Formats: sequence, C-alpha cells, structure tokens
Amino acid sequence: MTRTRPYLFYDIALSICSQCYAKVEGKIVFQDGNVYLLKRCHQHGSERVLIADDVDYYRRCREVLSRLRKCLWFTTRP
Ligand SMILES: [Zn+2]
Repeated sequence: MTRTRPYLFYDIALSICSQCYAKVEGKIVFQDGNVYLLKRCHQHGSERVLIADDVDYYRRCREVLSRLRKCLWFTTRP
C-alpha cells in the first residue's frame, strides 16, 4: 500500500510534458521544504520540476492568486 508518501500533496495542476508537449495531469507537492510539480506522461514517464524553494512563500502566493481570481470572477459577472 502507498500509505507512507514522502511528500505532502497540495493541488492538481494541468501541465504539459516537456518532451512531447502532451497535456498531462500534474500534482503540486511539498517535499523537503520545496514545492515540486510532478508530471506523468504516458510515453515519457514521470518528471519532477522544482517550482519554488519556499513552501510558505508559495502558499501565500497561491492564496493571493485564488482570492484575486474570485474577485475578478465576481466583478466580470453581468
Ligand atoms: Zn511525453
């Protein structure tokens, strides 16, 4: 069983494979104080990209972004 995962799952993100540019589902995870995007392509396997080296900073950015997005969504409604 995959009970003990060495990282903390944070979010799902749509991404692309860096080799074939196919759309792949990515996972944003926190590991060792860093933020990674884990991607899995059917042809090229899994890939790990470092997004940020500060979890707290990344989290704050995301919160601001999602709040902004909600604001925009409400203000653009007719
Ligand atoms: Zn690929």
